Amino acid sequence: MVEVPRRVLVTGGAGFLGSHLCDRLVAQNCEVLCVDNFFTGRRKNVQHLLDLPNFELLRHDVTFSLYVEVDEIYNLACPASPVHYQEDPVQTTKTSVHGAINMLGLAKRVRAKILQASTSEVYGDPTEHPQTEDYHGNVNPIGPRACYDEGKRCAETLFFDYHKQHQLRIKVMRIFNTYGPRMHPNDGRVVSNFIVQALQGETITIYGEGNQTRSFCYVDDLIDGMLGMMSSGDDVIGPINIGNPNEFTIRELAEKVIELTGSSSKLVYKPLPQDDPVRRQPDITRAREQLGWSPVIQLEEGLRHTIAYFDDLLRQSGHQI
Ligand code: NAD
Ligand code: UDP
Repeated sequence: MVEVPRRVLVTGGAGFLGSHLCDRLVAQNCEVLCVDNFFTGRRKNVQHLLDLPNFELLRHDVTFSLYVEVDEIYNLACPASPVHYQEDPVQTTKTSVHGAINMLGLAKRVRAKILQASTSEVYGDPTEHPQTEDYHGNVNPIGPRACYDEGKRCAETLFFDYHKQHQLRIKVMRIFNTYGPRMHPNDGRVVSNFIVQALQGETITIYGEGNQTRSFCYVDDLIDGMLGMMSSGDDVIGPINIGNPNEFTIRELAEKVIELTGSSSKLVYKPLPQDDPVRRQPDITRAREQLGWSPVIQLEEGLRHTIAYFDDLLRQSGHQI
C-alpha cells in the first residue's frame, strides 16, 4: 500500500526553530506548508527547501484567518527574543492569542493535531527551582515581558479549553532557552550576542552581574523533542518541559564563548533589564517518562557548531572577525 504523506503546517517556519523543523519534516517526506510573516524569520532560512516538491512557503500573518487542509499543525509563529517581542508588544500578544485562536479554529475545522510552542516564560521569574510543569509561575502582568509571557499563557489556556470543549488533539510543549545555527545575528538573545561579539572582538555585554542562570538546549535536541511530542499518543497533551537541565550563569556562558572562540574580547557589565528571571532550569522528568526524550548535546559541543555557523556567516558578509 502506498503511504499518503502527512500534510503539515508550520507557522513561524522561516524562523530559527521553525526552519530546522521544516528540514526534518521535509526529510520525513511530509508535505510541508511553511507560513511566516517574516517579522524575525528570513526566506534565507528555508531557501534550500524552496525547489523541493514537498515544500511550500506562504507569507501570511497568523493573526488573520488561514484556510488550508492539513493533518498536523506546529504553531511556532511568535518572536522569541525579548528585544524583538518588546518592539511591538501589542502585535506580540495578538500573535500569541489571535494566532492561537486562528490555528485552533483551523485544527478544529480540519480535525488536525496541533502543537503549541509554549515557553519557560510562562513561569516568569520563578520562585521554585527547578521548574516542574505543575508550577504556576510568577509573571508580572504589566511588565515589559508581559506581552510575551501572558500571550503565551493565554495561548496555553486556549489550547486546553479547545481540548476540553471540542476534543481537539493538542500538544503543549514549554521550550527552555534553545540556541544553534540560524539564530539571527542581531537577534538579541544571549548566545547569539555573545558569539557574534566574541568573533568580532567586541566587548561582551553582560546584563547585571551575570549571576542569573539559564539552561541551554541545542536546537537538534529540541526538534527531536518536538517531533517526539507530535508523534506521541493522543493522551500525551502536556504541558511538557523541553530543555537541557544543565544550568549555567550568564558569566560562565560568556567565559565559555571566549574560550571556544579564542577571542580577546573583554566583559562589560550593563544594567539588568526589568523582570529578567534570576534562575531558570527545567525539570524534564515528564519528558523522559512520557516521551522517552532527554537532550544529548551538551553546551560545549552545541556552542562549537553555533560558533562555526556564525564564523561562516560573518566571513561571507565581510564582517571583521
Ligand atoms: P524566531 O523569532 O526565530 O521565529 C519566530 C518566527 O515566527 C519568525 O519566522 C517570525 O517571522 C514568525 N512570526 C512572528 N510573528 C508572526 C505572525 N504574526 N505571523 C506569522 N509568522 C510570524 O524564534 P524561534 O526561536 O524560532 O521561536 C519559535 C517559537 O518557539 C516561538 O513561538 C517562541 O516563542 C518559541 N520558543 C522559542 C524558544 C527559544 O529559545 N528559541 C524558547 C521558548 C519558546
Ligand atoms: N543577556 C546578557 N547579555 C546579552 C543578552 C542577554 O547578559 O547580550 C542576559 C539576559 O539579561 C538574560 C539572559 O542573558 O538574563 C538570557 O537572555 P535572552 O534574551 O537570551 O533570553 P531570556 O531567557 O531572558 O528570554
